Amino acid sequence: MSLLLSNCSIIACDGSPPVDDAAVLIEDARIAAVDKEHSLEPLIRERTDLEVLDLGGRWLMPGLMDMHVHLSLALPGPAQLAAQVETDMALTIRAYGNALEALHAGATFLRLVGDARSVDFELKRAINNGRLQGPRLFCAGRAVIITGGHGFPSGSTIEADGADGFRQAVRAQLRGGADVIKLCITGGIAGEHEQIRDSQATYAEMEAACEAAHNAGRRITAHAGSSKAISEGIRAGLDCIEHGYFLDEPTVELMAKRGTYLVPTLSVSRAEDYMRRIGCPQWMIDKSLRAGEDHMRSFQLALAAGVKIAMGTDMLPADPYDGTLAIYREIEWMVEGGMAPDAALRAATLSASELCEVDAELGSVTVGKQADLIAMPDNPLDNVRALRGIDVVIKGGAIVRDCR
Ligand SMILES: [Zn+2]
Repeated sequence: MSLLLSNCSIIACDGSPPVDDAAVLIEDARIAAVDKEHSLEPLIRERTDLEVLDLGGRWLMPGLMDMHVHLSLALPGPAQLAAQVETDMALTIRAYGNALEALHAGATFLRLVGDARSVDFELKRAINNGRLQGPRLFCAGRAVIITGGHGFPSGSTIEADGADGFRQAVRAQLRGGADVIKLCITGGIAGEHEQIRDSQATYAEMEAACEAAHNAGRRITAHAGSSKAISEGIRAGLDCIEHGYFLDEPTVELMAKRGTYLVPTLSVSRAEDYMRRIGCPQWMIDKSLRAGEDHMRSFQLALAAGVKIAMGTDMLPADPYDGTLAIYREIEWMVEGGMAPDAALRAATLSASELCEVDAELGSVTVGKQADLIAMPDNPLDNVRALRGIDVVIKGGAIVRDCR
């Protein structure tokens, strides 16, 4: 089965300039040719098996890759209370609905960093087997935390203590099929009895977890707020930091030097209306808004230091937020924070694929890679708000959504 996407401009997201008047040939789920339309014309005339999708001058780019998602997300408030009595079946249906909506919004790949009752692993299996339509899933299993640590009431964490405890908890996630390991090493916004700056995991616990992950060839990331805990964690072997609410210069320099990634999740500290709508308690709203300015400044410090940045929402990608969907708004926040539009698009595609070490297969419009693609009427390099208009989504060469 071959598909030709004609009449489009291509943003490859690999640093090359956009190509106008272009076409993409997809064969066996992969990008077989990317070219000026006219050079593919003889082929179009010759081939009778070719399905042609005229994109009407749209902008085509790789599918979005969200690096921080919880499909079974249940924040403090009514959602978390409901989740405590939710059946396995209801949880599965809810998580799958969230995954499918994300795909329809243009997120062809999700890195899942905190799973309840192994639903992520099961959904990944069902999607990879072709039994369910959905985005590609890259799973951490449950996040490893200390007793009473960040996220303990969420159902998507596993409590452990001491180096042996952390090692064992990491190995249990690997046994379940984890693609990446997630720790929580400080407090966070969604914890009533903790401060974001509180150190939680000890150096010995982090070091043991990093060794267990690296021995299995997996990367390891951590929910982390303070510079102190982050520098310790990086020395202990962390490959990536989630949120990074309070970063200082020595810490971003260390991150840049070590090649540590940052997934900033800027949306979580500027989402008052969203949190009110879903019924989050007042203490949580206050805490998130108080962190907002420092969070943005930390992102800017990391950007200036040349830290590798990958986009993550820490919301459901298709959650309604600020007049649009969370995944588009997160990319807009990154640009409002000073990131160039092409860099922000790259953070949501190729850099994300590099973080997950799947860049040989995904993350750019490149011959040989999987045909995970999105299209929209306006040019997102002029204004990333153009992403709000995504109306074509293709995953593995199959048209998932075309609502032009
Ligand atoms: Zn999270």
